[in-house]
Amino acid sequence: MKQAMANNKICGDGPFTKKCNAWLENRFGCQKVLLTTSGTTALEMAALLCSLQPGDEVILPSFTFSSTATAFVLAGAKLVFVDIRPDTKNIDERLIEAAITDRTRVICAMHYAGVACEMDTIMDIARRHNLLVVEDAAQAIMSAYKDRSLGTIGDFGCFSFHETKNYSMGEGGALLIRDAKYNEQAEILREKGTDRSRFLRGQVDKYTWVSYGSSYLPSDLNAAYLWGQLEAADQIYSDRMNSWNRYYELLKPLEEAGKLELPFIPGECTQNAHMFYIMTASLEERTALIAHMGKKGIGLVFHYIPLHSAPAGLKYGRFAGEDKYTTSLSDRLVRLPMYYGLAESDIDRVATEIRAFYGV
Ligand SMILES: *Cc1c(COP(=O)(O)O)cnc(C)c1O
Repeated sequence: MKQAMANNKICGDGPFTKKCNAWLENRFGCQKVLLTTSGTTALEMAALLCSLQPGDEVILPSFTFSSTATAFVLAGAKLVFVDIRPDTKNIDERLIEAAITDRTRVICAMHYAGVACEMDTIMDIARRHNLLVVEDAAQAIMSAYKDRSLGTIGDFGCFSFHETKNYSMGEGGALLIRDAKYNEQAEILREKGTDRSRFLRGQVDKYTWVSYGSSYLPSDLNAAYLWGQLEAADQIYSDRMNSWNRYYELLKPLEEAGKLELPFIPGECTQNAHMFYIMTASLEERTALIAHMGKKGIGLVFHYIPLHSAPAGLKYGRFAGEDKYTTSLSDRLVRLPMYYGLAESDIDRVATEIRAFYGV
């Protein structure tokens, strides 16, 4: 960050932003990656690149963060929520086709906890119905599906570098573009609707306002912070994986005793230890567990009030089919402390207290 300041150039697309873009392109095998000001604005760019018309529909899970939905609402779309799978908590790919209408344009796949959606099935449905696929990979950087990096499989992928994610720049994100035909429009969108990127490459002799857009470039100061994290990407990854595996081993006896459920990672998925969650038997049990742990100074948090039941969800969307799992699972899920540098002794203490709660 000192170097960025010494460059006396901390606006967008400075040297650190370029280094981060190139690192992400090389590491994940993507022809174009652009840093953005957040995961939310990466999703907004993806939604705009889908060129939605008023009344067009986007299929997405209801068990997700508000950003997944609001990006498409801003682009003028109607939301169609589909139920999740009880094992991965990702959108249930077997229910997507029944939700498709003649207005459907996009499927948005959010990879919960960095574990991949069933991408072969989703991409096949999209191909057969001529739909675009946006991956909300905000939680899924460094994860893979059948050895393909998440964020690179759909037409567009979106990472988040928010402080709560595996790699941080405070606030920030990235848009991944699979097909180069979108590159120019993406650059225009990101540069206030101007062709400034072409100008900087010497392709035009002055730059001008050519389309709608916004300012989606993060400061190079933030990119410099991210660069430090990317340099340590593998170290951060293995630290988190060690924590995740330790939780899993220590809590496995509880699952075997039928007390709770642990996360499920399908064989074709490589995860990134973004999160460790457990499933309690009921909402009442979860409330009691959170209170028990709170008394011991251990903060557990749950996740996502289903979007379709939230005021904006009721206004902008509808649920297609039956809500068999979305609401019931969101009542039972609780997350354990998970961050880079989490001490083994702390993990042991969390597991010991959970076992004490269940009397195992
Ligand atoms: C964090 C997150 C976002 C938003 O990312 P920001 O960088 O905070 O804007 C979007 N979708 C999901 C699933 C997330 O977890």
